[in-house]
Amino acid sequence: TEGPPPTPVAAVSQYACQRRTTIENNNKIFTDAFEVLAESYEFSELEGPCLAFRRAASVLKSLPMAVPCLAATQGLPCLGEHTKAVMEEILRYGRAFEVEKTLSDERYQTLKLFTSVFGVGPKTAEKWYRRGLRSFSDILAEPSIQLNQMQQSGFLHYEDISRAVSKAEARALGNIIDEAVHAITPDGILALTGGFRRGKEFGHDVDFIVTTPELGMETSLIPIIINRLTRQGILLYCDYQASTFDKSKLPCHRFEAMDHFAKCFLILRLEGSQVEGGLNSAEGDSRDWRAVRVDLVSPPMDRYAFALLGWTGSRQFERDLRRFARMERGMLLDNHALYDKTKKEFLAATTERDIFAHLGLEYIEPWQRNA
Ligand code: ATP
Ligand code: MN
Ligand code: MN
Repeated sequence: TEGPPPTPVAAVSQYACQRRTTIENNNKIFTDAFEVLAESYEFSELEGPCLAFRRAASVLKSLPMAVPCLAATQGLPCLGEHTKAVMEEILRYGRAFEVEKTLSDERYQTLKLFTSVFGVGPKTAEKWYRRGLRSFSDILAEPSIQLNQMQQSGFLHYEDISRAVSKAEARALGNIIDEAVHAITPDGILALTGGFRRGKEFGHDVDFIVTTPELGMETSLIPIIINRLTRQGILLYCDYQASTFDKSKLPCHRFEAMDHFAKCFLILRLEGSQVEGGLNSAEGDSRDWRAVRVDLVSPPMDRYAFALLGWTGSRQFERDLRRFARMERGMLLDNHALYDKTKKEFLAATTERDIFAHLGLEYIEPWQRNA
């Protein structure tokens, strides 16, 4: 006689916004390999294969267990011939030839090194590589190279800002920014966003949203905060970008990755005494302070939910939210708004839940967005 039918396993969606991905990654051996290949394709401006490896990595990150054999990937989306071949090699030999080759490639190594400097993107790194430069000392000794302010700070604080920021350090920075915001206005709003909001233990920076309930007032917040940090003597670097957000232009403005809110990219000096349990500092470093990267973004209150969703990440989660909106719902989503192309109207939202609901998506908690 027939037993009970097997419990159907829910199919894994091709969209990260329909998967729950915590910080626990059971397939790190595969996803680390994919990340190397994706980055290498990014350096070569091959967007297609780059995205393919990022999507494949994201799918594996969402799985509740390690993939034990290639047969177990049956039915999983976003895994093509190339990705499967890499996985098969890793399953068999513990490593993949293509990854080893990439890791030992001089161009990959150099571009990886150069782009690890704050203010140096793939374009600049490529330019320097083509001029025959291979190390930081090559760059710093080259008289014809004019580093901009951001890159100068990037080199000056290289050791500190390439070391991970701990949760305790993020909390200490939150206190500093919170004090600044509330000194300006008692009803000021501060929210932790980025990787730490997703529950990550470590980050490359700390991301915050700062705003006020009064529309229009938020644009003055960041300049005042910057002023205060300067007077406190803890502002080591500041790139401030004033708001270019224009609501009246919203219907015709194209949806994009970068947003138009007032924001700043900072390097702050954090004292060890302010951090519970102490600084995450280098071995043998006797200083009791470290430099930390901090991002602040200041959307008007009626855009708060969109900005929070957009700045919480992960990048792959954001990419897939937008792709899902466009491909499956005929809607356009970015950090400012959600537009329904069929109804030709903007959909308002005061919470992230509102946005998921407009998109007909189950709500995904921030800590489940580590796609
Ligand atoms: P990490 O721990 O490495 O910092 P993270 O997820 O916090 O991880 P960030 O680079 O700090 O990574 O970015 C956080 C989020 O903010 C991402 O989802 C990204 O899309 C968004 N973001 C970053 N810079 C901008 C920008 N200039 N304009 C719009 N969104 C941005
Ligand atoms: Mn971050
Ligand atoms: Mn950031």
